[in-house]
Amino acid sequence: AKAAGRACYQVFETRMHEQLLDRLDQETRLREAVHRGELRLHLQPVVEIATRQLRGVEALVRWEDPEHGLQQPGAFIPLAEETGLITEIDRWMLTEACRAVQEWRESSPETAPKWVSVNLSAANLEVPDLTDRVAYSLSSTGLPPECLVLELTETVLMRDIAVTSERLDELRELGVRIAIDDFGTGYSSLGYLRDIPVDVLKVDRSFITGIVGNERQQELVSAVLQLGTTLGLKVVVEGVETEEQADLLVEMGDRFAQGYHLGRPEPVASLRARLAADSIA
Ligand code: C2E
Ligand code: CA
Ligand code: CA
Ligand code: CA
Repeated sequence: AKAAGRACYQVFETRMHEQLLDRLDQETRLREAVHRGELRLHLQPVVEIATRQLRGVEALVRWEDPEHGLQQPGAFIPLAEETGLITEIDRWMLTEACRAVQEWRESSPETAPKWVSVNLSAANLEVPDLTDRVAYSLSSTGLPPECLVLELTETVLMRDIAVTSERLDELRELGVRIAIDDFGTGYSSLGYLRDIPVDVLKVDRSFITGIVGNERQQELVSAVLQLGTTLGLKVVVEGVETEEQADLLVEMGDRFAQGYHLGRPEPVASLRARLAADSIA
């Protein structure tokens, strides 16, 4: 039994060792991915729900891993956040998104989105020159500041309200807008809406899942839409997956929505080609 125990322990130790090496390996490959140009920008439409017209886009990162193919953020963002690599990734995405949308605005202003939103993980608020980085992305690409929205989650915003609102004030002085992402999922009170300067609420998709036929949930979403209107905020409802959900949102007076039913994330070129074909048809 003792020998079996030891053998078992050795197997365990070997596996731990392998996992550690895997992790180090993945970290190294992720670090290199940024410098080798393996990150990809995908854009997901944000539409005006009543007309289904594209109004904005959200920038979502992908990793074209030469070994394992196209990776979704869930597969590498957690590691990037743990290792601090996320600020490099977010910096790359920021510039790439600004560049892509500005180029679109210049070449086909009639189909171009009015804004692009970029996700920023918590660590970015600790980057001392975050505002300079954002300013540089704008000036080097020519994108007007009012076309850029920065998305932060509630949990990030709640961490240290004094510091956060100071950072956000700096950013808003540039003319960019701030969105609260996954609104309604944090365990915060609504108090921060009073203290933190924001412009856009992105209602988490868990509020939309199962909304059809659920009156209570509909009332909840209605209330959020009203709250947004009262506070002068733009509201974007996320995760619209069916026509029924979209219809319901129109009835509820929602203006902006995002979801697989309205458009999936895709590379800029294919999104632009699709919209150009639509406008001819
Ligand atoms: P998020 O910011 O909440 O982005 C929306 C996510 O929901 C995207 O997943 C999008 O593809 C997915 N989605 C959109 N419509 C629907 C729908 O109708 N149904 C369902 N089930 N999902 C929908 P994705 O691209 O896998 O990104 C996941 C998360 O990774 C993002 O959630 C965001 O938190 C993070 N992320 C993505 N790109 C970046 C980035 O450049 N920087 C940072 N810091 N985080 C990023
Ligand atoms: Ca987001
Ligand atoms: Ca979200
Ligand atoms: Ca999220």
